[in-house]
Amino acid sequence: MQTITSGKVVSELTQIARSSGQKVGFVPTMGALHQGHKSLVEKARNENDLVVVSIFVNPTQFNDAGDLKKYPRTPDQDADLLLNAGCDILFVPSVDEMYPAGFDEEEKTDLVGLDLVMEGRSRPGHFNGVVQVVKKLFSIVGECNSYFGEKDFQQLAIIRRMTKQLYLPVKIIACPTVRESGGLAMSSRNMRLSPEGRMAANNISKILFALKAKWKEMSTGEAKRFVEEAILAEKLFRLDYFDIVDRESLLPSAANEKRNVIGCIAVFIGEVRLIDNVSLD
Ligand code: AMP
Repeated sequence: MQTITSGKVVSELTQIARSSGQKVGFVPTMGALHQGHKSLVEKARNENDLVVVSIFVNPTQFNDAGDLKKYPRTPDQDADLLLNAGCDILFVPSVDEMYPAGFDEEEKTDLVGLDLVMEGRSRPGHFNGVVQVVKKLFSIVGECNSYFGEKDFQQLAIIRRMTKQLYLPVKIIACPTVRESGGLAMSSRNMRLSPEGRMAANNISKILFALKAKWKEMSTGEAKRFVEEAILAEKLFRLDYFDIVDRESLLPSAANEKRNVIGCIAVFIGEVRLIDNVSLD
């Protein structure tokens, strides 16, 4: 595995690989890697000849400077995990490499409102930052298969939309959420939970799976109330949102619609904010 800090060098290496007929797989991450990230890299390894993983804690997608500062960074463990998962190129650009001084930022991509609901409402500007950095990463890596987790469902929907809208030569591949044995969706943020918070956090997915089991017999309103009441009953939880939305438009599903819908949730445990989702069709 080569560790590279220059976008130009990564561009050259992926270009060389493609010109000799190789397929390039790319996994963008912010580091503090866990088994969820590993599953994406392993899938990329199975489906491509050259595997590129980026680690970049992108400042423009944090609307809270404190959150950016506290974002976990575990570079040595990350390198071990990636070596094990079969990564060929680890791209670790500096902030200056990604946002060089003197280069004006190009226009914002219109995300047709996908960025304004759910996470976008709670974290204004977050998805503009995500799209800004992923666009740059895609133009560095070039034509490739790129792997994204369904855990961040709204991000996946937005990246799909952006790629299509800009005709980028990138195929977006969705990967299932990897969970801990208690059901908690793996996240770099989990390491900031207290031991009690971590125990309680398993109940987020338990509530979502309980909803999935009953969903066929419920109205949309009943389903929302079921989740809201179950979250309220957990004293460590503070619900940010729970929405039942259409998988593509991300708009609230029509009342009692059962096709193509997903339930998305964000919960605070102390000051740690966790997200999860459950497919309801
Ligand atoms: P992050 O480092 O949090 O930006 O995540 C990088 C990629 O890993 C994103 O596509 C995430 O959706 C994905 N990811 C994060 N956690 C998980 C998980 N538990 N299961 C599957 N994919 C995940």
